[in-house]
Amino acid sequence: MRSHWDQEKIKQANQSLSKAHPIEIIRWGNEVTERQRLTLACSFGYEDVALVGMVQQVDPSIPIFYLDTSLLFKEVEEVQQRLSDKYQIKFHRVTTLLTLNQQAKQYGEKLWASDPNLCCQLRKVEPLRQHLEPYEGWITGVRRQQSTTRSQTDVVEWDESFQLLKLNPLTYWTDDQVWAYIRQHDIPYNPLHDQGYPSIGCWPCTRKVKPGEDPRSGRWSGFNKTECGLHTSSSNPDEEVGT
Ligand code: SF4
Repeated sequence: MRSHWDQEKIKQANQSLSKAHPIEIIRWGNEVTERQRLTLACSFGYEDVALVGMVQQVDPSIPIFYLDTSLLFKEVEEVQQRLSDKYQIKFHRVTTLLTLNQQAKQYGEKLWASDPNLCCQLRKVEPLRQHLEPYEGWITGVRRQQSTTRSQTDVVEWDESFQLLKLNPLTYWTDDQVWAYIRQHDIPYNPLHDQGYPSIGCWPCTRKVKPGEDPRSGRWSGFNKTECGLHTSSSNPDEEVGT
């Protein structure tokens, strides 16, 4: 059974971990949860591949999963393969049973263009909710620097939406720190990052970003949407901060 972490316990954890290296934060998470009940969410963006490398140093048995929406860039598969080869790990594929054809029949063609919130709910949020059910905690690549909606992200949070512990080991790290770690450890990363895509989601909802633009402006371009709803801010549970 999952143990609930109250706000006082979360606050104490944040005080003790605020200056800790992300690896120490992952190690702490691994110690306070039962074996195999902490998991890393990997969307194969640069923060996530850095975390994959860190998790291998802490405990290679920590399960790593990714959400397969059936709408991922082919480069995602390639980086997944390269990471598997380097670390000998198997990524758990999490997906909806709703095929794209079924979705089109039920909700209309290209749901992402007419109702991206519903599309994300069906293809990401619900599969994630089911997948997280047996876990006590999950690790994410959310960082304060990524956007204003993420600027209050703590290292340790109680995830109200999915009711488990949430670790954001990179929250205080800058872009430069993440990239330095990737280069120092020769971690495979998505080549689209070198081609103007700082944030990469499903291909229908991701475009290149021009120099000077907000890094996340390439996601759901044309919609008043910047997040897909996987993450909810603990300081404001109504505020979505997604991957
Ligand atoms: S990112 Fe776009 S295509 Fe992917 S699940 Fe969300 S709306 Fe659908």
